[in-house]
Amino acid sequence: MPHSIMSLFLDVNRLLLRKVKYLRSLMPRRNRVKEKWAATRPKHPPTQLALQHFDATYGAQLGQLWPSVRVALLTERKYGALLNNFSQDAGIADLQAQGCRDFISDRDGEAKEESRDVPTDGDVDGPSPLHLSPNIKCFVFPRGDVTRFKPARPDQFGRLGYYLMDAASVLPCLALDVQEGHAVLDLCAAPGGKTRALLQTQMIRILCINDSSVSRTLRLRKVLHSYIPKFLTDENLHITSFDGTKWGEIESNTFDRVLVDVPCTTDRHSLMEDDNNLFSKNRTGERRMLPKLQLELLLAGIQAACPGGEILYSTCTLSLNQNLGVVEQAIYLAQENHGIHLQVVSLRPLTQMFRNTFHFTPDLHLGEMVIPHLAANFGPIYLCKLRRLT
Ligand code: SAM
Repeated sequence: MPHSIMSLFLDVNRLLLRKVKYLRSLMPRRNRVKEKWAATRPKHPPTQLALQHFDATYGAQLGQLWPSVRVALLTERKYGALLNNFSQDAGIADLQAQGCRDFISDRDGEAKEESRDVPTDGDVDGPSPLHLSPNIKCFVFPRGDVTRFKPARPDQFGRLGYYLMDAASVLPCLALDVQEGHAVLDLCAAPGGKTRALLQTQMIRILCINDSSVSRTLRLRKVLHSYIPKFLTDENLHITSFDGTKWGEIESNTFDRVLVDVPCTTDRHSLMEDDNNLFSKNRTGERRMLPKLQLELLLAGIQAACPGGEILYSTCTLSLNQNLGVVEQAIYLAQENHGIHLQVVSLRPLTQMFRNTFHFTPDLHLGEMVIPHLAANFGPIYLCKLRRLT
């Protein structure tokens, strides 16, 4: 570097340092945070361990896609605003004025010629229509626009106009294809993002909402009260805190639809937050046991569905072991151990419909996966739909 540029660079650095010191001096002493690098910071923070693990596994799995997925995963995620039909003032006009659109009804350039009933192809017997509930609405900013949503406003009854969630998390609820009068089980429901999307359909006769964590279930109950009228929560919802792996033994052959949204390595969280991180050394055992727990939960969900009923398995990880690996084993074990025959329902129509909103992994042989991308930083979300034949 030439001498003059070098000295300019040093001067700028010195100025910046002085400015930081000045700003710190303005801050009240009690608010200053002193970083304790040497004493308490772990030598290998869990976020770093997660990144090493993902580089090794996803690098091989995704090949040339991995560098761009990696950048997106390390960048702030994009949200969608799930509209609350139970609010008197959802703020649609406000959202539209900000340039947002409901990605479900307004498929800008995406398979517009298709109606809301799209025949599935491939591995199902004959065409099977995919009905998208007209009542689920989720607003997103356009591709490449990373504007944040304003906090939702409460209406006169205190019900919030929308709920912010990863827009790709709405896909499992759409794919579940809930119909009028259905009995639905949400096996691992907390914190309740997908429960809220399912409730928006306003078609469910009975919704069983379960999560093994008592504290998370309590919080979910409170949160639901700030979104939907009380009479609905009292009459149609059953909220429980059972171990979901046992559900098949308690109540089998019952539900028209079962959502099995399992605990997983939550890839984004694992890369961004050291707290409560599954890659911390003391949680290695728990992390390694995840595929076993996921398999048990999926098998319980399959047993809980009625013959002809449909099961939607979903995760928020890119891991093949936690996604396709679990589904493949579940299909095999359901038949071997319980005599249940399953059919994989193609979700290709869904990916066709939303191909301009989300990035999907090409050519996954079982299920579909939304992969993060800087222009559409949603996901990861894996989803696979099964239908019980017997
Ligand atoms: N479906 C939720 C949503 O959309 O907000 C997210 C579910 S989160 C990925 C997984 C949940 O599974 C956690 O809340 C966790 O407490 C719960 N869980 C873990 N083990 C479970 C079990 N054996 N039975 C039921 N729920 C379990």
